[in-house]
Parts: sequence; C-alpha cells; structure tokens
Amino acid sequence: MKIIDTHIHFSNIESFKQTAEAISFVDYSKAGFLKEFGEAGITAAIGMGLTEQSPNGFPDKASPNPMLLDLTDMPERMALCPGINPVRLESGGTGELDRIEAVLSRPETVGIKIYAGYYPYYVHDRVYEPVYRLAEEYQLAVVIHGGALYSDRYFLKYSHPLEVDQLAVMYPRLPIVIAHMGEPWVMDTAAIIGKNDHVYADLSGLIVGCGQRILKAQTNRLVMDRFMQALVYEERYDKLLFGSDWPLAPVKPYIEFVRNMIPEKYHEDVFYHNAIRVFPKLENFLGR
Ligand SMILES: [Zn+2]
Repeated sequence: MKIIDTHIHFSNIESFKQTAEAISFVDYSKAGFLKEFGEAGITAAIGMGLTEQSPNGFPDKASPNPMLLDLTDMPERMALCPGINPVRLESGGTGELDRIEAVLSRPETVGIKIYAGYYPYYVHDRVYEPVYRLAEEYQLAVVIHGGALYSDRYFLKYSHPLEVDQLAVMYPRLPIVIAHMGEPWVMDTAAIIGKNDHVYADLSGLIVGCGQRILKAQTNRLVMDRFMQALVYEERYDKLLFGSDWPLAPVKPYIEFVRNMIPEKYHEDVFYHNAIRVFPKLENFLGR
C-alpha cells in the first residue's frame, strides 16, 4: 500500500524532543526520520512548519514568518506547510507577508499551517485574510490545528473545529484540513466535513505515545468506538487523510491504528489518493 503521511513535525521544538525521548520513544533526527519512514514504506511526508525562539517558547509570539522546519536540513521526500505566526503578521507590516509569499512559491511548499488555539485568534479572524488569499492564488491547502492543545497558554475556544465552519463559508474554494479530526470534538468535525465540500480532516495525533500505548488504545473499545462513530457518522472516507503527528507517535504502529479504523476498500484513498487531491503540489515528490 502506498502511504503519504500528511502531518509530521521536523522542527527544533523542546517539547517535541522531550516527548520523543520520554513518551513516544522515537529517534527525532534526520537519520531517525529516514530510517523509520523508510522501513514503513512511506512515499512522502508533510512537515508542519513551526519554530520557537527559546526552549519551550512555543507557541512563540516572537517567531518570524513563516515558520519552517528547522530540526536539520529537510530530508528528501519531505514537503512543507509553512506555519503562520499571527501576532507578527498583525504587527510586522508588509515584510511579513512578502516573506510568506516567497516560501509559498517554492516547489516543496504544498500548504499552509495555522496554529489555531496555540495563538489566540479565531481561524476566521481578519488577520489571516491576506494569507488565505495567497493560499488561493498558489493553490495551496490550509491545515488548521483542531482540538486539544499541547500547551496551556491559550484557550480551547480558538481551536474548536466548529469555528472552521465559518471560515469554510467565507472561502468556498479554499481547501481546508482540520488537523487531528478536532479531537476530542471528532463528531463536530464529522459534521463540518460532511457539510462543506472543501473541508477535510487528518487523523494524526489521536493517540500520542509509544507503540505499546497505541496498541492499548486500539484494543480499548470505548476509545475506538468514539473515533469510529465520527467516521461512520458521515461515511466520508474521501475526506479523511492519514497523518501520524510524528515524533509524537512512532509511525508504523500509528499506521496500524488508522488501518483498523478504516474499511479496507477505502485504505488507498485515506492513506494516499486523498492527500494528492488536497495537496496537488505533492506530485513534485512522487516518482522522483
Ligand atoms: Zn501536529
């Protein structure tokens, strides 16, 4: 089976390094990525751009736009969704937008990442308007953090997936991905991807932890029923994307976890074809 991982991290972020070392037991390095993703047979992965200016600074108001993948130089077959810092976008003048646009035109850029909730702005806030216009111009999808936060600095109201519904109506041609299926609001996300033709969800980050922890969740009916009710509710397997949120989980056990939730006839769509539809510039990474 061909696999594209639509949601990973490859940034020098202290909390990711700590999680990789103590919770998910992942080798969070270029060599670790190449080994793990090579062994899992993954064709391409999309890194969500993010930076912090001091250890544990994320979500960092001082990070310049756009936020990139700064763990090491980017491995081959890794695509990029540069991250947006709305605080600097709002205060920094036109230079911020120019720097964002320069990255959007690169061949490895397939989308844009918005850190809803990590920064205290609604996704439909006017601060993001110029960025969404650029996404439309360059035919890029916008990936939006949905649901629970990996930081206690801001408010969950900004990352509730229901806010994406308003954005979807404002930009009817903009492909939008709700990350993590908006967990724990997975049913709300199901309703939104069912209603809006151009809104999708990725299945990354539903479980954070090592292989054993993923296996434990996979055999816990109460946990699985909750996720699967949301998937079955709309039966929109054309709207779901595989993502692992690596290094927050090892990729092979996470593939198994997602395979178990999706009816077999939709595996190729969820693990591969849907990703190419949502991120057409991924074609640059295939058949190289
Ligand atoms: Zn993530």
